[in-house]
Amino acid sequence: MGKGLLFVVSGFSGAGKGTIMKMLLERFPEEFSLSVSATTRDPRPGETDGKEYFFKSTEEFEAMIADGMLFEFARYVDNYYGTPKQFVFDELERGKDVLLEIEVQGALQVKLQYPKAVLVFVTPPSVEELRRRLENRGTETPEKIRKRIARAAEEVKEAEQYDYILINDDLEAAVDDFQKIVKAEHYRSANQAELINRLKDELGGEK
Ligand code: 5GP
Repeated sequence: MGKGLLFVVSGFSGAGKGTIMKMLLERFPEEFSLSVSATTRDPRPGETDGKEYFFKSTEEFEAMIADGMLFEFARYVDNYYGTPKQFVFDELERGKDVLLEIEVQGALQVKLQYPKAVLVFVTPPSVEELRRRLENRGTETPEKIRKRIARAAEEVKEAEQYDYILINDDLEAAVDDFQKIVKAEHYRSANQAELINRLKDELGGEK
C-alpha cells in the first residue's frame, strides 16, 4: 500500500468545496491529486471533457459500472456521477494524497471499501448563505436550486458519519483548516509505521 492518504470531501452543492480543493491544489501541486469523476450531466459553460469531468452518455456510464471501472458511483439530481478506480490507486501508490470531491452516498461507499479514507464534510455557516451562493452561481435554474437544497436536507443526515466537519465561512481560513486536517492525519501513528520501525531498529542497537 502506498503512503498517500485518501481524502473524501462532500458537502452541500454551493458549500464551496470545489473552490477549496482548487486552492489547495494551487498551493501544493506536488502533494495532492484531484480525481476527475465521470458524469452523465451536461457540461456547464466553461467546463471541458477530462478537466472538470469525463462527460459520458448513460450507456457509456453503465458500461463503466459493468466493467468494474468505478470505485464508487451514485445518482445525484437526475444524473450519474462516479470515480474512476485506477487513477485513485495509482496516485496513492505514487505517494500522493488523493482528493475525491463526491456526494454523500459515494463517500460512504468509499469508507466501506477503504476504511482508511478520511471523510470531510464542508458546509457554509447557514442555509441562508447556501441559498445565496447557489443563486449567485448563476448557472442553475430555480427548479435545480430547489432540488439541490432538497438534496442538502438529505445529505446533512449523514454528516455525523464523517470524520471532520469543515465550516466554509472565510475561504482562506477554510483552506488553512483543511490543510491542518491533512497534516494531523499524516501524524497518526497508524500512518507513521515506517518511522516507528526505523526508530525501533535504530534503538535496538542501544540495549
Ligand atoms: P455538480 O453537478 O455540481 O458538479 O456535482 C453534483 C454533486 O455530485 C456534487 O455534490 C459533487 O460532489 C458530486 N460528485 C461529483 N463527482 C462525483 C463522483 O464521482 N461520485 C459521487 N458519488 N458524487 C460525485
